[in-house]
Amino acid sequence: MLDSDSSIGALRHEMQHLRDDQAAGWLGYQGHMSDPRAAYEMEERAYTVEIEYAESIGDYESADILRHSLEEERSHYLGDPHGGA
Ligand SMILES: [Zn+2]
Repeated sequence: MLDSDSSIGALRHEMQHLRDDQAAGWLGYQGHMSDPRAAYEMEERAYTVEIEYAESIGDYESADILRHSLEEERSHYLGDPHGGA
């Protein structure tokens, strides 16, 4: 039950990437990766879809985990905002 719910969320995440890729003219993942900010924004959109889905089914624990994962993506692509560098 939990497994299939989180699979649906992950599927929606990937579907959002496909929609973004389509909107960008099928640049492909490599095309997005050349710009860290664009890559992060792509992840942000996909995670938002996943978080909203988790909350819609009352799975707030997964939503929190996903928010934390999105923060890690932000650090990865844009650097740590608290790092001071
Ligand atoms: Zn992603």
